[in-house]
Amino acid sequence: MAQAMPDEIMMDAALIEDLAEVAKDAAFLQGIVMRTPELCNSSKLVVYMPFTLFPTPVPKAAYLQSLAVQTCFNTLVDKISQDQDFLQEALASTIEVDDFTARLFRIHQQILKEGRAQSIVLGLNRSDYMLDQGEDGSLALKQIEINTIAAGLSGRASRMPDVHRHILKVAGKLEVSQRILDNNANNGLVGAIAKARELYGSERAVVMFLVEENQRNIFDQRCLENELWKRNIPTIRKHFNNVSETGTLDQDKKLFVDGHEVAVVYFRIGYMPQNYISEQAWDARLLMERSLAVKCPDISTHLVGTKKVQQELARPGVLERFFPDQPRVVEQIRATFAGLYTLDMGPEGDKTVAMALADPDRFVLKPQREGGGNNFYGSEICRVLQGAKGSKERTAYILMDKIHPTPVQNYLLRHDGPLKVSNCLSELGVFGAYVRHGKDMVMNECVGHLLRTKSSEHEDGGVSAGVAMLDNPLLV
Ligand code: ADP
Ligand code: MG
Repeated sequence: MAQAMPDEIMMDAALIEDLAEVAKDAAFLQGIVMRTPELCNSSKLVVYMPFTLFPTPVPKAAYLQSLAVQTCFNTLVDKISQDQDFLQEALASTIEVDDFTARLFRIHQQILKEGRAQSIVLGLNRSDYMLDQGEDGSLALKQIEINTIAAGLSGRASRMPDVHRHILKVAGKLEVSQRILDNNANNGLVGAIAKARELYGSERAVVMFLVEENQRNIFDQRCLENELWKRNIPTIRKHFNNVSETGTLDQDKKLFVDGHEVAVVYFRIGYMPQNYISEQAWDARLLMERSLAVKCPDISTHLVGTKKVQQELARPGVLERFFPDQPRVVEQIRATFAGLYTLDMGPEGDKTVAMALADPDRFVLKPQREGGGNNFYGSEICRVLQGAKGSKERTAYILMDKIHPTPVQNYLLRHDGPLKVSNCLSELGVFGAYVRHGKDMVMNECVGHLLRTKSSEHEDGGVSAGVAMLDNPLLV
């Protein structure tokens, strides 16, 4: 049963139609826009991004819990990235069958062999959660995944509060509008990028955004870029092929691209096999990893974000390895873990297969991929596992308990669809930012949040795909 819209927000249909028009204009005024698929490399024509007409109730305790655990996750990601034995063991079975992860892993190994050129580490991540409803109605914050590369939407998330505030005021809900939280995710991430560049220590050097050929989502990146420029930090936008064509390292391993010295490489690409269209793209990745530029993320931190590492972390005793004297931190992190199961060859993996086949609707099957739309649900889990269950192909996946958030009604606004009320599920993301210089953590912060809401008929899919809508939490 879906939860009806909270009484404080409920209103009649005619008013909703009017509000939707007000809402669209508010979204444009805040720059909640994206390019169209047909004109993805031009801003001649833009459309508003999908968003919800109203904020979604989120229990205050869960929200605060997600913020409080973020700096622990930052530390954890950073510690794992420095633990080569752990990464090697955790990914051993995966890289036997998953060529993409194997290729990333080979770069990681090569860098370790050569020695890292740069001791400044910049981590910008987003930990995503859903609230799992127990049979007794209780809600538990459960992590879906942590993104250690190209964690997007900070720009839009920071502008969404004003959109909902305005809608609610026009709707005569002043009190509710005042409860919409501020969100400083974008400036927080920029603060960390600026800090890393300052430590790099060159007035001339730029922040390079490494971006896709398809630039539909450019505005989210522009929010970061323009904020950097506001702080007098120059940025450039480049593709893998620009780096392979013009990128060089000087004798100090300083990275130059198109004549610019690069202080920070910020990856908004590089997490999908399709991003590496040629051998030259892989060579470019290696060149950047070898360089003195600060990489966000570096190759090791990128690997920490794999689903396999997430599953290994849920094993008994593993968090203790990273926080040997901090049982409170271990407890705080572990409380957010859903059931995660290995599909490695052997009796434990066999048990996982049997469990999944017996009750597929209880689980989600995940390959080592990012970017949405890759997971398997229900009968598809059986199809994949029936095919792979006896072979090591199955180790390309992990199995996870399916989280069941409480559906809540909301109106979904999208430029290519009718306004309609839907039963919706929400995913809360929390942005973390840290900078380490050698052994010193010089910054470790939770900088903001992102609420995405989708109609419950969709199992998977992101905002750019038009499935998930931008939203704001309304603490209750
Ligand atoms: P990706 O790296 O592709 O973003 P995710 O692990 O975030 O992979 O999964 C994509 C989407 O699938 C999530 O945004 C969420 O909607 C859904 N999803 C993932 N894991 C679960 C789960 N355990 N229970 C319910 N839904 C899930
Ligand atoms: Mg995700």
